[in-house]
Amino acid sequence: MALIIQKFGGTSVADPEKIKTVAKRVLKKKKEGNQMVVVLSAMSGETNRLTDFALAMQEIPDTREMDMLLSSGEQVTISLFAMAIKAMGDDCVSFLGDQVKILTDNSHTRARIESIDSDRIMETLKADKIVVVAGFQGVADNGDITTLGRGGSDTTAVALAASLRADACEIFTDVEGVYTTDPNICPKAIKVDRITYDEMLELASLGAKVLDIRSVTFAKQYNVPVHVRSTFTETEGTWVVEEEKEMEGKIVSGVTYNKNEARITISGVPDQPGIATKIFTPISDADIIVDMIIQNQDTGNGMTDMTFTVARNDYQRTIKILEAVVEEIGATGGIHGSDSITKISIVGVGMRNHSGIATTMFSVLSREGINISMISTSEIKVSCIISEKYTELAVRTLHDAFELDKESVPEEEILS
Ligand code: ASP
Ligand code: MG
Repeated sequence: MALIIQKFGGTSVADPEKIKTVAKRVLKKKKEGNQMVVVLSAMSGETNRLTDFALAMQEIPDTREMDMLLSSGEQVTISLFAMAIKAMGDDCVSFLGDQVKILTDNSHTRARIESIDSDRIMETLKADKIVVVAGFQGVADNGDITTLGRGGSDTTAVALAASLRADACEIFTDVEGVYTTDPNICPKAIKVDRITYDEMLELASLGAKVLDIRSVTFAKQYNVPVHVRSTFTETEGTWVVEEEKEMEGKIVSGVTYNKNEARITISGVPDQPGIATKIFTPISDADIIVDMIIQNQDTGNGMTDMTFTVARNDYQRTIKILEAVVEEIGATGGIHGSDSITKISIVGVGMRNHSGIATTMFSVLSREGINISMISTSEIKVSCIISEKYTELAVRTLHDAFELDKESVPEEEILS
């Protein structure tokens, strides 16, 4: 007998009829001889609706009360689900976060799970009942309700899978899985069967739409295999798993892009110790996160350039901060930048053992006349900053060049 965790997102439990459909699906799986633990989100739109109510009360809602409010959405779906199962002649018990002791820290609205007590769940399963747990919520050590942050139900499911040592953790959503790139801009994108935790984390901008990225960090830490799939079909989705030997077969697993960044350059920076601190300390003090950083070698006159990226909505704020810094350090070339850029990346664990992948990417972009303004690499990723207007073209040509629309490609073909 296998123990299976199934999590259904808001669109899957959007109304009573859909909850019945989900209940049928879970019951079928139980009748095949499995123990079932279900995690549900609130009905789609509900958490937003409650947030709007809160904003009508207080400009910046109190976070403890916010958790009290938002956690109610999941209470509705789990109780209805349990009733649906009972109406179908089987048995089910619903639990809130504090009833199964999903202990978190006390950071309201963005709490982290610290432990789960599986006793009550195991007892209920032993009595041959289905267990349904409210996603997204937990309890702090003082008994106050906490929530894990938007999209947090995925993390609840993965954490339960880890603590119950479940055989599988299935995340049901409204898409069929993780794709090689964004199907909205590249019609040739195909669903990936298996992907590693690390690739999934790097593909965050693709993955975030199907799987909350914090749950992947959790899954990796506890080695929980996660199956992301559609509620509305029977087809297999994408397995997010630990890296295995055979997975190196594919060098590049996906092409991803992020239009949410801006590039800033400070030129004519004196090439002296302490300059980087002077530039980046005031930026981090303002809670602005810097992504890529490139510093040039001294070009011969004792001066250098510093280029980096920040989130696009921090662009103006960062420039304001830097105006004072430029004065202080005596940068002669001033500040310039652009907030119409895209970071385009290719990701794949196979890159670890292959050379020539980055150069293939550069030549593909150059063939299309796309200028690269910054490059950064990690063990399993190459990212280039390009002008935003070429995003679609770049995604499609890279997808073609690495033949991501084919199941598996011999490496000689890609590199030739
Ligand atoms: N209901 C919460 C949200 O909408 C949690 C979740 O769906 O994962 O963010
Ligand atoms: Mg969700």
